Amino acid sequence: MSSLPVVDFHTHIYPEKIAAKAIDSIWEFYHIPMQRDGTVDSLLESGRRGGIEHFVVFSAAAIPGQVQSINNYIASVCREHSEFTGFGTLHPDMEKPLDEIERIIGLGLRGIKFHPDIQRFNIDDERMMNTYAALEGRLPVIFHTGDYRYSYSHPSRLARVLDNFPQLCAVAAHFGGWSLFDIAFDYFHNRRCYFDVSSSLPFIGHRRAAELIHSYGAERFLFGSDYPMWDPAACLKEFMSLDIADCEKEQILWKNAQVILKI
Ligand SMILES: [Zn+2]
Repeated sequence: MSSLPVVDFHTHIYPEKIAAKAIDSIWEFYHIPMQRDGTVDSLLESGRRGGIEHFVVFSAAAIPGQVQSINNYIASVCREHSEFTGFGTLHPDMEKPLDEIERIIGLGLRGIKFHPDIQRFNIDDERMMNTYAALEGRLPVIFHTGDYRYSYSHPSRLARVLDNFPQLCAVAAHFGGWSLFDIAFDYFHNRRCYFDVSSSLPFIGHRRAAELIHSYGAERFLFGSDYPMWDPAACLKEFMSLDIADCEKEQILWKNAQVILKI
């Protein structure tokens, strides 16, 4: 394989002061042990160790009052670290989300991350439609998708949004539906969206993951770690062991991200 840079498209970061608390709350939600501490330094260390040059970084607001401070934090970290592209957060209950989208763009953030299960809204909630209309054709949006315990982020809900907003650049994280990997295929194989491979290989298995990448097409996939839940360097090593072609790995590790992020 030629040595192209590697982009980790799915990482969560937290200020040092609150990282330990943030990690506790992810543990409470998923009961999956966190491999890293959620800080910027730990992410950069893993990148240096594993050979990952670029990261898409974000953090989801659990309540509307957190939106502006999180967006300011992500923007400030991205100003300090050229390795980072920042995505902003919005909340379905916030006032004036369209104003915040303009502010997010002004801050230099390059997309939006939603976590419908933690933020407790249905992806196809009517309240979100004006927001998607404002994002369509402007900023890529990454959605956490899939959780067998909840319906908020069900692939069927994102499918409905994709049908209503055909120009929305959407990334359906975790192969389109964490814990619902094959159900996701029914909804997305003939729709237009990207996927990331984060938090999936340990659950889906390598044989099935390679099959799904081939069924959907490698041009639709992005490498991601879901740091701090997983160590990006270890995720990259695991991804490289997949039985897919080198040219497909290059698309997933760098080329598709380059198209979406325009980097
Ligand atoms: Zn995530």
